[in-house]
Amino acid sequence: MKKSFPDRDGQGIVLEMIKTIQENFGLLSEIDGAIGDGDHGVNMNKGFTICKQKLESEPGGFAKGLQALGRVLLAEIGGAMGPLYGSFFLDMSRSARDHEEIDIEVFQQMLERGTSSVSSLGNAKVGDKTMMDALVPALEAYKTAAASGNDFAHALAEMAAGAEKGRESTRNLVAKIGRASRLGERSIGKLDAGATSCALLLGAIARSITSLLSEG
Ligand code: ADP
Ligand code: MG
Repeated sequence: MKKSFPDRDGQGIVLEMIKTIQENFGLLSEIDGAIGDGDHGVNMNKGFTICKQKLESEPGGFAKGLQALGRVLLAEIGGAMGPLYGSFFLDMSRSARDHEEIDIEVFQQMLERGTSSVSSLGNAKVGDKTMMDALVPALEAYKTAAASGNDFAHALAEMAAGAEKGRESTRNLVAKIGRASRLGERSIGKLDAGATSCALLLGAIARSITSLLSEG
C-alpha cells in the first residue's frame, strides 16, 4: 500500500463521489422527506451532475475537482446544503492545491479545514442532528488513527466507519437546527438526510483513495 498519491491522479475520487450521489439521490430525498421537505437528494443530484459535465470539459486532479464541485454547489443548488457543502469542498480544495502529493497529513488538513468551514457557516454542533453528526466523528476517528501511527488507508477506513456510526447516531436525536427542528421531538426515530449524504460521500472518498494507494 502506497503512502500517498499524486493530486493529478485524483479526479476519479470526485467522479466516484458524483456517482455515489447519482446512485443514492432517491434514498436521500426519501430520508429528507420523513422530517424535512424531501428535496435533499434532488438538490445534491442536480449539483453533482452539473459538476460531472464541467469535469468532462476541464479535466484536472483532486484539488481541481473539489474546487469545481464546491463552486457548482455554491452557485447552483438550493436548500441548506448548497452553501454548506459548497464551502466544505472549496476549503478542502484550498488545503490541497499547494501539494503535488496527497498523503495522510495533507488529507487531514483538508478534512479539518472543510469541517471548520461548515461549522462556522452553519453553527451546528454534534447532537443537533445535521451533517456535523457524521463529519465530526469521521474527522476525530481519522485523526486518532493517524496520531497512533496507522497508515493513510487505515485512517481512511476509520474515517468512513466514524461517519457511518455518526450517521446512525442521528436516528435517536431531536433536530435542533434546520428545517427538521420545526418537528422537535417528532424528529426522533428518523435519520438525518445531510448526515446520510455526508457518510456516503466520505465512504466514496475513502474507497477511491484506497484504490489509488493500492495501485501499481
Ligand atoms: P433544506 O433543509 O433547505 O431543504 P437540504 O434538504 O438540502 O436543505 O438539506 C437538509 C440537511 O441540511 C439536513 O439534513 C441537515 O443535515 C443539514 N443542515 C441544515 N442546517 C444545517 C446547519 N446549520 N449546519 C449543518 N448542516 C445543516
Ligand atoms: Mg430539504
